[in-house]
Amino acid sequence: MNIVKQARLDKIATDIRHKNVCPDLATSATQLVMGDGNLDADIVFIGEAPGKKEDLEGLPFIGASGKFLNDMLASAGMARKDVYITNIVKYRPPNNRDPSAAEKAAFWPYLLEQLEIIQPKVVITLGRHSMEYFFPGQKIGEIHGQPKDVLIGKQSLYVIPLFHPAAALYNGSLRQTLIDDFLKVPTLLSTLD
Ligand code: URA
Repeated sequence: MNIVKQARLDKIATDIRHKNVCPDLATSATQLVMGDGNLDADIVFIGEAPGKKEDLEGLPFIGASGKFLNDMLASAGMARKDVYITNIVKYRPPNNRDPSAAEKAAFWPYLLEQLEIIQPKVVITLGRHSMEYFFPGQKIGEIHGQPKDVLIGKQSLYVIPLFHPAAALYNGSLRQTLIDDFLKVPTLLSTLD
């Protein structure tokens, strides 16, 4: 456990509460779901927002999508404890509705702070909601699996956009596309220093 990084991440959570980010979501959700995993990870995964189970337990990707993510990690020779997982929006939207543009914009600076603290080699966006912030105006169906160096503020990030596991879970061809894209990640990672 990296105590210094954990303390800095805890400070972000405190800021989100004190600044009353997305007060409606804060009221309807059970709790803030900041993220989970290895603070020295090479890879950070960014999903959409916590679902019902995540909201109740305070951890990202622990429901059906999370199980699929864990399976793909295992197929690619990785374990969940090696990576860090978070979402662009840190509170569950009511009834699992899509997060609004305003909600994503409100949480975006905190996500960038998380990335600055963790300093991953690779950022993997899961689904269009986190993708569109790194690749504005692009379509997930056209750019999935294609890594790009992206400069955001002062941070230079190597970002791989992937489909969201929930979208792929029950769609055979999307599922295979996601698995194929996912299996390219270890090779892409090994080409980085
Ligand atoms: N879907 C997401 O995007 N994030 C979660 O944490 C769970 C499901």
